Amino acid sequence: MQAPLKIKCPQCGQPSENIKRTNIFSMFFLIVVARWQMRTINMCDECTRQEILKNGAINILTSNILFPFIILPTSIYQYVRSHEKGHSKGVVEDIMTSIKAQQITPEFANQLDKIRHL
Ligand SMILES: [Zn+2]
Repeated sequence: MQAPLKIKCPQCGQPSENIKRTNIFSMFFLIVVARWQMRTINMCDECTRQEILKNGAINILTSNILFPFIILPTSIYQYVRSHEKGHSKGVVEDIMTSIKAQQITPEFANQLDKIRHL
């Protein structure tokens, strides 16, 4: 069996077999004013859990009465998902795209094209 690919965590710098892509949802709610924000993070499983907990703690105050209905269930779902083994699908796809972009130069593509037509 092939060993899982380790990727350096952009947050802590440690190599990890579990880089997660997570959408962190933040909310500011003051009865007459509501504002929300979604940001995507790519971090190892440990950093992802810390970020989810930090975001949840901040949103207890900022989302006030909506916290148990929106932020809490979202955070629990993301926290549980952060325990899944392996990298997120989007992280793997980005790496494959990056590898392809680096390895297939126009010259190499021409050579491949010539070989296909032999
Ligand atoms: Zn990390």
